Order: sequence, then structure tokens, then C-alpha cells
Amino acid sequence: MKIALFNDNRLGVVADGRVYDLTETVPWDARCAQDSLEQFIEKFEYWKPQIEIGLTSFPSHPLQEVKLRAPVPKPSKLLAAPVNYLNHQSEMNAQFNNAPFTIEKLGLFLKAPSSIIGPEETVYLPRKDRRYDYEAELAFVIGKKAKNVSAEKAGEYIFGYFALMDMTLRGPEERCWRKSFDTCTPIGPWIVTSDEIPNPNELQIRLWVNDELKQDANVRDTIWNCYTCLAKASEIMTLYPGDIITTGTPEGIGPITKGDRVRIQVERIGEFSVNVDFAEDQE
Ligand code: MN
Repeated sequence: MKIALFNDNRLGVVADGRVYDLTETVPWDARCAQDSLEQFIEKFEYWKPQIEIGLTSFPSHPLQEVKLRAPVPKPSKLLAAPVNYLNHQSEMNAQFNNAPFTIEKLGLFLKAPSSIIGPEETVYLPRKDRRYDYEAELAFVIGKKAKNVSAEKAGEYIFGYFALMDMTLRGPEERCWRKSFDTCTPIGPWIVTSDEIPNPNELQIRLWVNDELKQDANVRDTIWNCYTCLAKASEIMTLYPGDIITTGTPEGIGPITKGDRVRIQVERIGEFSVNVDFAEDQE
């Protein structure tokens, strides 16, 4: 099932080019969309059959007539994987570092949840004199409380998957500092529930800047796959429904600047685009 937030954070299911509105069917307060989403996630097995049976009876809109929102608007945690693809590891160490680093040495890092935006929004780059890069990633949202979960069991704790752009300032600052600017985490276009993704570790990820293909890789080339990322994170901290883990970017990173249009696509999930501008050119 494709779970979307749309317009003023209403809850929808996307099917056959339409968005079916569940806002009046399940408990949902659009002013507290994250809280509502977490409750919906925890009760999803209860709601799922009713939604499937009643879907076409719910009010609906053509997909192109709604404004999609970030499908996970305000998670308590947004964890991210650094240098998690072997070919990107070589690229990073060649360009930015003399000492090689690996995800095994670094672990995951926290990125500010307040950096999240949705499809068709604008990424505002705060500093004109610094380099910002796009990073295409597969991300997932936690489905139930997880602590010390093994990689073998990790799939049971994932509610669903979506595409994420980890817009990144290059430079010597801490990752948290360089990756937490407002608007620098576009996510979307919706959550695809785990039952529709039998193997998340085999999905193709692509990213274009101004229709030029820049990244084209498969999650199978990660060093820590989705399940290992969840397992490792749950050794350190309790993961809660609604938390996000993003699994890192493959090779092909490069700079973005004002006027760019960036599009991400993940196999079996979908695609969305964002625009890029300089923050200081705004009011
Ligand atoms: Mn990243």
C-alpha cells in the first residue's frame, strides 16, 4: 500500500493514479500529522483489511490535483548512514579525505528532523560560497518499537520505504552540522508498506539533475543493508514507530546550485523532484 500525506497533511492511499482520502475513516488530526501517523502505523494491521475492502468508496482525487507532503513529517529521530556503498567510499576518500573511513568505523549519525521537506518543495542552500551535494538514498520508517533487534528479524520492524535526498554541505564540519540545514532532506513521494517490498536490499536508485542522470545504483551494493542498519542502530538506541533510517548514497555525488531541479527515483516506490535556490535570495 502507498501511504501519502497530501494537501494540509491529510492521509491518503495512492492507487491507480488517484489519492483516496482516509482522513475521515481512521483517527487522524492533520494538525498533529506525525502523532497521527505513528498511531496509524501501530494500528496498521487492524486498518489494512478495511482500507483494502473500502478503498474505492473513499473520497478521491486525481494524483496530479493534490499537493503531496513529506510522508513522515516530523520523526523523533532521523538516522543516516555515512559512506555505505563501496564505490562511494572510494569516491569520498579520494576527493575529501586522505585517511580511509568506513561505516563500520563511523556507525550511523543523526540528521535534524527539522530539515525534512516534501515533493516539489524547494531546497534552500544557505551559503553561496560553499559546495552542496545531492545524495540519493533509500530510506525507511520504523513500524514498531525496536531495541537490540537482530538483522534477521529487522524486516519485521520496518513499516515501509520511500526515497530520500540527503543534501550535504561539503567541508570539515561534523556530519550533523553539514546535513541538518532546513529544507535539506526532501523525502517522498509516499511510504510503500513493507508487504509490497519483499526485498528492499535489491532496489535500483536513480537521481537526475536537470534531467541528466547522475546516480544509478542498487541497494545490493551497500556495506550495511537496510536490515543491518536497523540492527546496528537498535543496539545503540530504542527505535520508535515513525523514526526514519536512511541507508546512504552510492557513487556519483556532485554539486547542486540555484536553479537546479533534482529528481530521485527508487524502484517499486516511485519518484519526485525538488527545486534548488539560495536561501539569501529569499525574503
Ligand atoms: Mn547521505
